Amino acid sequence: MQLTDALIFINGEFRHANSGKMFDIINPWTGKVAGQAADADESDTDLAIDAARNAFDNTDWKDNHAYRLDVMARYAKLLREKRHELLQIARIEAGAAVGAGARAHIDGALDGMDDLVKCFADVVFEEDRPDRVVGGVLNVRKVRHEALGVVAAITPWNVPLYVNVGKMGAALLAGCTVILKPAPDTPKMATFMAEIAVEAGIPAGVFNVLPSLHPASVGEKLVTSPLVDCISFTGSTAVGKHIMRQGAETLKRVFLELGGKSVNIILDDAPDFMMAVASSMVVFHAGQGCAYPTRLLVPKNRYQEACAILQGSYAHFDSKWGDFEEPTCIMGPVISAKQRDRVMDYIRIGQEEGARLLAGGTLRPDKGEGYFIAPTCFVDVDNNMRIAQEEIFGPVLVVIPYEDDDDAVRIANESSYGLGGAVTSGDEARAMRIAERIQAGCISVNGGMSILGDLPFGGYKGSGIGREWGHEGIQEFLQSKAIAAGRR
Ligand code: NAD
Repeated sequence: MQLTDALIFINGEFRHANSGKMFDIINPWTGKVAGQAADADESDTDLAIDAARNAFDNTDWKDNHAYRLDVMARYAKLLREKRHELLQIARIEAGAAVGAGARAHIDGALDGMDDLVKCFADVVFEEDRPDRVVGGVLNVRKVRHEALGVVAAITPWNVPLYVNVGKMGAALLAGCTVILKPAPDTPKMATFMAEIAVEAGIPAGVFNVLPSLHPASVGEKLVTSPLVDCISFTGSTAVGKHIMRQGAETLKRVFLELGGKSVNIILDDAPDFMMAVASSMVVFHAGQGCAYPTRLLVPKNRYQEACAILQGSYAHFDSKWGDFEEPTCIMGPVISAKQRDRVMDYIRIGQEEGARLLAGGTLRPDKGEGYFIAPTCFVDVDNNMRIAQEEIFGPVLVVIPYEDDDDAVRIANESSYGLGGAVTSGDEARAMRIAERIQAGCISVNGGMSILGDLPFGGYKGSGIGREWGHEGIQEFLQSKAIAAGRR
């Protein structure tokens, strides 16, 4: 299966790069070229910035709330109508398995876009504040919440539709204009979103897309340009910090959605302990999810039992992944040769650190010519090990025993990250007490869904700054202006 060219999209038009350069899109299932993308550089970026600036400064996009809502509701509807095409793109360029499309990859994104449109009703763009007499003068006051301006959205490859929609949908609903710079691995999803934007009637210049191979050319230009008002970045913590430093010169608003090393705490009274442990395998989309609970915390008094359950679960799962056609399959390859090597490095490090490999740990060429790594589970892990502290972003679970509830909370919080987490217990109140003590942005209790389009999503500590999704996610793209009229 081949993808059509992913061209640059500026001011409502698709175009090749000024340089004429293209780069290859690699299919992670095969390691082979699946298509080509235009390779934007600084000169293309200048054009996109001009287009977005002009659309923000000189059209009524930012002020005409009803019109914007109408356009974005149409966009949400069209996006849903293109589910099949979106899934094909996610399969081919992001390595999504078909069954993963039913979750975050596609349906989560479509539901999220609908949720954002619904959340628009909760966004306050203007409010009256009570009159106040100051120095004998009556002040009649209001506060306006105005769109920030031109937003550069810089996104990763793992769940491209979901992350792109979270930024583009919210920023456009807020009245900003957007330049989307997708990861070089997944340019087609972004440019296909631009095709739908044309169909939905999103005005020229309001949404622009810049695929590019080298992050420094387009990304750094966006981050340093004085004409860009805000950077909304999702990606690794290292690049996030770099972007924050680079953005300082022009005092940009910088929102960062970064990495994670989330915990899954199973308490000794979990009603279905076996199911809770078995479903903690890190396999969905080969573990390439930022809020994935990749540290499993099990009580010491049920540790051996948990290890035995996991051994059985991993063995059972072995025939259930890596199938491109199977509708129920949720795990395919990792995204690239680079990511494969990075994950395999961590598997080596884990063994050197003294953790015990309970399952996996090997490449699986029998699954295909692409980048297949066996679902991997380390037990006897100490929370100080690198495999417990650093984000692996692959199909690797680490299992850590704990003494009691306090110890579980301690281990959970001894991390530089704080994105997601989960707690399972037969006593909801006990689980809630633990959830409230975990330093992270979204926690699931007893299988609850804490990541949904109408809830704020984002990190504590090294997992980021700012919130996406929900009305909070739209409000992030607004700034407040107080106006007081003096009446004598
Ligand atoms: P990455 O940080 O390498 O790249 C992310 C994006 O930043 C890409 O578009 C890349 O081209 C761009 N980029 C890289 N260097 C840049 C620079 N100097 N200036 C401007 N842009 C630059 O991350 P990745 O490997 O694409 O994605 C994996 C990471 O993303 C993981 O750490 C994962 O946890 C994180 N992630 C976080 C969330 C979240 O919401 N918290 C969601 C998905 C992924």
